[in-house]
Amino acid sequence: MKLDADKNPWLGAQSTRKLFAALPDDSARFVGGCVRNALLGEPVADLDIATTLEPADVAKMLKQAGFAIHETGIAHGTLTVVCAGTVFEITTLRRDVSTDGRRATVAFTKDWNEDAHRRDFTVNALYADLDGQVYDPTGQGLADIKTRKIRFVGDAQTRIEEDYLRILRFFRFAAWYANDQALDKDGLAACRDLQAGLKTLSAERVWAEIKKLLSAPYPFRTVNVMLVGGILETLLPEASNAEGLQLLCELEAKKVLEPDPYLRLMAMSGRDELATARLCKRLKMSNKEKTRLMHWAGDQTKLTPDMPEKETEIALYTAGRQVALDRAVLRAAGAGDKMDAWWHVYNKAKDWQWPSFPVTGKDLIALGIPHGPQLGKAMQALEALWIRSGFSVQKPQLLTAAKMLFRNLDGT
Ligand code: ATP
Ligand code: MG
Repeated sequence: MKLDADKNPWLGAQSTRKLFAALPDDSARFVGGCVRNALLGEPVADLDIATTLEPADVAKMLKQAGFAIHETGIAHGTLTVVCAGTVFEITTLRRDVSTDGRRATVAFTKDWNEDAHRRDFTVNALYADLDGQVYDPTGQGLADIKTRKIRFVGDAQTRIEEDYLRILRFFRFAAWYANDQALDKDGLAACRDLQAGLKTLSAERVWAEIKKLLSAPYPFRTVNVMLVGGILETLLPEASNAEGLQLLCELEAKKVLEPDPYLRLMAMSGRDELATARLCKRLKMSNKEKTRLMHWAGDQTKLTPDMPEKETEIALYTAGRQVALDRAVLRAAGAGDKMDAWWHVYNKAKDWQWPSFPVTGKDLIALGIPHGPQLGKAMQALEALWIRSGFSVQKPQLLTAAKMLFRNLDGT
């Protein structure tokens, strides 16, 4: 089996050739996602390279050839090279010395076979040299590519006990690449039996995997398998409504929407502030992620598809753009014969020229309103007035109103 160089321009790219030329013959091969995706006819993102050389030797040879090396992962045997916009991760062949369900202690090896057997899935343990020649040390990878089967290398249970993250990787790769009929039964049973181990993983690793799973083009069927196996409840007790995900995926297909893992997570939860706060905290989401989810969960603005145009605009402005979009698209997904009406609200939120409040703090200070809580209150009151008018009151009138308001606030 050989990779087609025409269909995989990264294989013959100048940066690739230069990198391989800097290393001795047969010392480096592509591995992992790039080989798997090239064989599946899926887009290739990053380029992982495995090598028989020790990291310090790789660093020396590549530096001599003029490459800039990032050595952040060198302790684990990985060097990163960025060349002509392409990221290469070059990792020395490894074998596990010991594992504890989360981290492995590894030793370097020169044996491709050993390296293959510590990798997670047969389709991830395929290697390719610069000519595109594919190597399959487990003897199952190429067959599993053909049937699009995600199968653990070796005994599924043992491999999961070495690293519980592999449960999530199993479902992630299944969601992206597997044939539904080919979900490996042993793998699935082991994931189900050992799911309690997920609780030992760091929130960051888990959340990163969930995002990748929920970014798959059509993750519903896999998520449903997770639901049936009880894994969804273990992983996301606050967001285990698989049916909500199904409805959103159907809408995405109908309306050609890009997959959005956050929206999909919302579709699997309820608009419940407490539960959402728990979810964000447990998964240690970033502030930006948390803000989007919490605003959506807590928004109290009345928004229905049958409101008059002006009222809709006032609701959109009050809710905020992202919240309005999220609420509308999720309602459209579950709305049955009201889908078009909610879709109209979504489009309105997307295309509407959001007006900007014409008065600034500076304007009010120029009127003599001092810095401090009064200024904030005055701004809020003026904005509320402006919103109620359907954004029609102009700046001069607002400033006149501000003067009156300040007199009242000031009590003079
Ligand atoms: P993609 O980059 O498209 O998400 P990938 O297969 O390249 O997919 P990476 O996370 O980049 O995934 O890992 C690169 C390779 O390293 C994998 O293909 C696999 O061979 C190996 N690998 C990564 N994580 C694990 C793990 N937890 N257990 C065993 N092998 C792993
Ligand atoms: Mg990769």
